[in-house]
Amino acid sequence: VNEAAENQAIEYTSRSAEQTVRLGRALAALMKGGDVVAMIGQLGAGKTQLTRGLAGGLGVDPRRVSSPTFVLMSEYPGRLPVVHIDAYRMAGLGDLESIGWSDELFDGSVTLVEWADRIADQLPADRLEITLEHAGESERLIRLTPRGEWIKRRDKLAMAVASLDVVYSCPTCKTVVSTDNPAFPFCTPRCKMAELNKWFKGDYGIARSITEEDTDVV
Ligand SMILES: [Zn+2]
Repeated sequence: VNEAAENQAIEYTSRSAEQTVRLGRALAALMKGGDVVAMIGQLGAGKTQLTRGLAGGLGVDPRRVSSPTFVLMSEYPGRLPVVHIDAYRMAGLGDLESIGWSDELFDGSVTLVEWADRIADQLPADRLEITLEHAGESERLIRLTPRGEWIKRRDKLAMAVASLDVVYSCPTCKTVVSTDNPAFPFCTPRCKMAELNKWFKGDYGIARSITEEDTDVV
């Protein structure tokens, strides 16, 4: 059974903290009430960024999401209520019971568990398991393993992850543009203006040769 689950895993390499946040946002779109996300990874592996992205995508103000090192559990209002649990200091079932760990806790909320390996025996069978590993200075290998009912959402998961690797290029200068660039789909306001000017002039050709400035990535 375990081996079958490993075959369902989807891998994603994040190259920055921002990309890890973006992955969380993409995953948030798939969440529904009762979902449990179990995150496993060392300090600095990106669990907090992933939590911020997930919570932000669920409508929680990301500034409210802190690493709850001294708090076992936080709850945030959002499109769906978000329950954020840090299991790092949890000693056993007693600690879990003290925060009301039960099916009722998960009901209607999205529950995000950091250091989920510390409470592996207590995790629900239906969960999205996410392991994060250092794979270089800023690279992280992120493995998403759907378990139980989550396996039915594997295709949607794979699509959400694949969408992160779509590369857009500026229509004017063909430089690669990130979707969070304020001038998107252009790389700079200058390239946006260049495109507009072409329309105004009625000639859809380049009015002058491209200079180095045009190709600067913001
Ligand atoms: Zn451009």
